Amino acid sequence: MYKFDDIASMNMEELTELVTSRGLPKFRAKQLFSWIHKELSDSYDEMTNLPKKMREDLAAEFPLRTLKRVDSRKSSDGSTEKFVFELSDGHVIESVLMKYHHGNSVCVSSQVGCRMGCRFCASTLTGLARNLLPSEILSQVYHIQKASGERVSNVVIMGTGEPLDNFDGLVRFVELLTDENGLNISERNITMSTCGLVPEIRKLADLKPQFTLAISLHAPDDEARKRIMPIANKYTISEVIGAADYYFEKTGRRVSYEYSLIAGENDTREQALKLVNLLKGKNCHVNLIPVNPIKERNYSHTGAEGVAAFKNILEKNGITATVRREMGADINAACGQLRKDYMDRKEEERERLFSQS
Ligand code: SAH
Repeated sequence: MYKFDDIASMNMEELTELVTSRGLPKFRAKQLFSWIHKELSDSYDEMTNLPKKMREDLAAEFPLRTLKRVDSRKSSDGSTEKFVFELSDGHVIESVLMKYHHGNSVCVSSQVGCRMGCRFCASTLTGLARNLLPSEILSQVYHIQKASGERVSNVVIMGTGEPLDNFDGLVRFVELLTDENGLNISERNITMSTCGLVPEIRKLADLKPQFTLAISLHAPDDEARKRIMPIANKYTISEVIGAADYYFEKTGRRVSYEYSLIAGENDTREQALKLVNLLKGKNCHVNLIPVNPIKERNYSHTGAEGVAAFKNILEKNGITATVRREMGADINAACGQLRKDYMDRKEEERERLFSQS
């Protein structure tokens, strides 16, 4: 009946169906939606304009899941804060708040872990536990907005997880985040990053979303890409770019390509020129990211000079490129590393307790 039987993941239509099926008037759905998605309430007790009986019944049947902050770290310049949250079932996820001149941006996780296996990424080291519910992706934004006391204006779906591996969850998340009765964040202020699941990119394009699609390319030829991204064994670069072109065709939104520069893997002059060949003439943007080394792997990032040279080759050939600004460098642990560290610490604690008993 409902796409998600979790109440905070339901859209207005499903909520309306839910309340009317219980003999309650329609407007109760709107009130409920507003409590959850505008007032960012995570307890029925706060929903004082709803009848007590209704609240009690809902609490029994549809408990509201809450995020518990178990760790956070703020950069010394205050621009970046990383959060580790515990979900109702004990899993942990990571989110990041970034403060820019143009507003506050939150980077959310879409899954608990990830099964894509990119070699340089910390989020995939322990594999995939499960998809996040739309409400669990939303709660990261809600919690951070409440904690900071400032409006969140931009959302990037670039935390742990492959969003297109949680397709329905992603689509519902965006629907609720942009709902005018909720936080009403403009779809144009949302960016979703994918390692390049070709059929899902095409399926998404058919829905004609207005958010920015970012493709994690990271290499200009299939051989080099296969060395760092297992997904490259499934889809070729030309299929991935074909799907990105289709997204542009359907949505009119300029696609971003992410390219994490790894010393000796994908950062040579020849590789920059190959990238030019792939993207020349396209309405796109390249985001260069000096790879953030993780302790579990032996990668190092391209130095500042190498990054500038790579960027220069792209720009000389008419491809716009930026180098991702380093924010809060002192806490700039690689994506998913804070979550991983937290999980390792917990594991050590458990082992200690176990050996004592
Ligand atoms: N699964 C999605 C989104 C998550 S990661 C995807 O693959 O796009 C967001 C971006 O950070 C991706 O481009 C990813 O490849 C990149 N990334 C992950 N770990 C990194 C690291 N250690 N250094 C640099 N970039 C990294």
